[in-house]
Amino acid sequence: MRWSEEIQIESEKRGVRGLIERYYDLLDDMKGADIPSFNISSNDMQDAIEGIKRGRYFFKTIKLPFDPHGKEDISKKAFLLGFTKCLDNGFAETVGRYWENGFCPVCGSLPGIGVLGEKNEVRMSLVCSFCEMQWDFRRMLCPFCINEDQNMLGYFYPDGDEGYRVNYCDKCKTYLKIIDVRKNGKIYPFPIEDILTLSLDIITQEKGYKRLAPNPFGMVTVK
Ligand SMILES: [Zn+2]
Ligand SMILES: [Zn+2]
Repeated sequence: MRWSEEIQIESEKRGVRGLIERYYDLLDDMKGADIPSFNISSNDMQDAIEGIKRGRYFFKTIKLPFDPHGKEDISKKAFLLGFTKCLDNGFAETVGRYWENGFCPVCGSLPGIGVLGEKNEVRMSLVCSFCEMQWDFRRMLCPFCINEDQNMLGYFYPDGDEGYRVNYCDKCKTYLKIIDVRKNGKIYPFPIEDILTLSLDIITQEKGYKRLAPNPFGMVTVK
């Protein structure tokens, strides 16, 4: 069995079991993929960190041997996920101190989901839709248009599900699903969370808000 009983039960309950299965197939494909090898010199790393301090994401400075945003390729995706996980603490600390952008500090992509209250009550972080990097972000600020007018920002908890909420922005009409760890208590791998909460995309899109970053299957519009 590749997935925990807990995830099976959750996915049944939420009517997305088939999608979760598809996602695990994708993970299997990635495990079997021929991952390109790549080393970063300490000079390159230093340059990248300097770049981060000036608001330039990592891949803007470090050139990969392929276009990370080019044609979808399972081995590139596997490489990027492994690469992001391998970035050491020094990098994470740098990002924690200097990164206040609504795009990913590693690859520059938009966040696919957010997390609230993971390490403490007030901490909010965003998760990259592409490489799964996680970074801290201000709670009441739209990551997509950087609107901070509190009258134009809001959130709602869907009926009967306090573990998740949806943050929306009335200026750019976008939303981001947020895992509320304070109420949820637990957290599954981010792509799993994104798939489990598909019904939230449906509800929120019916209200006229749009999703900007694709879900794990590359979809932004969900029906
Ligand atoms: Zn990223
Ligand atoms: Zn906005």
